[in-house]
Amino acid sequence: MQTAATSLSSLFAAKPVDQERRSSLGARRRNAKIRRIMLGYVCISYFVDAILLSVYAETGAIPWEIPPAYLACGVGSIFGFGILYETRLGKHFTDAFLVIPQAIVGLLLMLAFTWVAPQAGFLFLCNLFIVFSFSSLRASARETAVVWTAMAIGLILLFLGTDKPIGLPLATFPDRVASMLAFALTIGRCMFIGIFANSLRESLYNKSVQLKEAYRRIEELAELDELTGSFNRRCIMRMLDDEVARAQRNNKPCSVALIDLDWFKRINDTHGHPIGDEVLRTFAITVFANIRNIDRFGRYGGEEFLLIMPETSSTAAAQILDRLRLIVAELDWSAFSAGMAVTISAGVSELKPTETPDALLARADEALYAAKKAGRNQVARA
Ligand code: GH3
Ligand code: MG
Ligand code: MG
Repeated sequence: MQTAATSLSSLFAAKPVDQERRSSLGARRRNAKIRRIMLGYVCISYFVDAILLSVYAETGAIPWEIPPAYLACGVGSIFGFGILYETRLGKHFTDAFLVIPQAIVGLLLMLAFTWVAPQAGFLFLCNLFIVFSFSSLRASARETAVVWTAMAIGLILLFLGTDKPIGLPLATFPDRVASMLAFALTIGRCMFIGIFANSLRESLYNKSVQLKEAYRRIEELAELDELTGSFNRRCIMRMLDDEVARAQRNNKPCSVALIDLDWFKRINDTHGHPIGDEVLRTFAITVFANIRNIDRFGRYGGEEFLLIMPETSSTAAAQILDRLRLIVAELDWSAFSAGMAVTISAGVSELKPTETPDALLARADEALYAAKKAGRNQVARA
């Protein structure tokens, strides 16, 4: 039952997703298969009821014409809906599965048979619960109101418009067994629809979790530099604006460093571009492993990186950068390519009380230029 309910759950998937699905042939085939399974279940349901009605007919509780007539009407309506689906006439309706028309036809059928065979009326009225559980899976509040009103009018006509005694056959032992089974099976079918609704909720929940994860991943990708995994330029510049504003608001120091790999063009030319990429990646990982949680590190462009160090004076920042410089210089780069050495130069500047992020960066850039000019593999303060 659980598996059937799970396989059917996609039938009631959210409508916007339906539109997207309808465009693909595979999805259409899947939907058609689900629809056939669904119609099969409803057919079985009519068969079971017809067997119970046959027991009543056998004991004389209802006329013998009722079971075949009920089966013919039930299966006939399913057949009609089947043709609508298969010929794709139903695609003109907003609900491609025609749950609401099916519910209304089911409702009319049950009321009509209560009218013509009131001796077993409880069985048909019990089926109203199944019809409603089924339609509530897909119906909007307005559609539910329409179906309910139609049912209420039918019940008024049935209960108040006539004095037909609506019966529950219990006169003989087979009658009692059939009536007991009718109740048990009605409850069973309602429970089946409940499980079905539950699996639908679960699948929708899982979809929303997947969507959230995908959204988070997209956001992450939009912020990160593909090669090095550090923040990309757009992101690190936004962070610089934020940190500058925060430092000035709280009257706290904040330093930045522009870091540039030395002779990187030569590294590319000598060892190859892919090795150059590896160097950039390894450099970024090394920096990440040696900075604090509050520091922000991103790729400013090419082989140039920006490190933002909140709550750090330029003296402390220069010490941090010198430590980084030593770590990079002492790494065993020959593991990537024989005879390779990598060093960095950095320009450090500390934020002034009314300085703009651009001015802060410009001073770091000047310091970096000075470090390069002084021979590279060194840190200069603005
Ligand atoms: P300097 O010490 O003065 O900084 O010299 P440099 O050679 O590092 O500087 P230059 O600006 O002349 O060259 C930078 C090189 O970085 C050129 C460019 O091909 C290389 N580069 C930029 N981005 C990438 C990248 O993503 N991967 C690789 N492999 N190389 C890159
Ligand atoms: Mg360089
Ligand atoms: Mg450069």
